[in-house]
Amino acid sequence: MTNQIDFESIRHRVKLLQDTGNEQVFENRDSVECPVCGQAFTEALVTIERTCQLSPSPSVELCLVREYKRTIVFTHT
Ligand SMILES: [Zn+2]
Repeated sequence: MTNQIDFESIRHRVKLLQDTGNEQVFENRDSVECPVCGQAFTEALVTIERTCQLSPSPSVELCLVREYKRTIVFTHT
């Protein structure tokens, strides 16, 4: 298991829902495993901002990877 996420290599397994330039949101279409907990994530939020605001519902769990240039948040519902 690696903590580096290559979205290019799993592009066909996720759908890009949103791309603002600084943030991207991917929807998991093919049970891609979260690199943190190993369970399939629901969505992945990629941000190069230092901070980001998340408003998950109470039933949502979050896993987070801080890479050198970006932060990735994986949601589980
Ligand atoms: Zn996870």
